[in-house]
Amino acid sequence: MSSILVFCRDCGKQVPSSETQDQLCLDCRVRRSMAELRDEHARLWRKRERYRSHNGSNVAQISRQIARVEDRMASRIREMVSNERRAGELLQRELEAARGQRYTIKGV
Ligand SMILES: [Zn+2]
Repeated sequence: MSSILVFCRDCGKQVPSSETQDQLCLDCRVRRSMAELRDEHARLWRKRERYRSHNGSNVAQISRQIARVEDRMASRIREMVSNERRAGELLQRELEAARGQRYTIKGV
C-alpha cells in the first residue's frame, strides 16, 4: 500500500493518506464522532453532581447511566480503530476529556 503524507484539515497534522478520511486524521475523526456522547456524558455528570449536593438517592442510578455512555464511547472507538492499543489510548483520552469537561461547561 503506497502512502503519501497529507495534512489533516482539522488539526493540521501530517498523516499518511491511508489513515485519513475526508481529509481528517484518525484522531480527529474519533474526536468528532464523540461529540454527541461527550455532551450526554457531561449532562449526566452535572446531573449527578446536582443530586449529590442535594443528598439525592438517584446518584447510583445516574452513575450507571454514565457508565453506559462510557461503554458506548468505547465501542464506537473500537469500531473506528482497528489497532487495539491505539483504540485504548484514544478511549483514555476521550474519557479524560469527558470527565474533565464538567469544569469548563456552563449552563444547561
Ligand atoms: Zn487531525
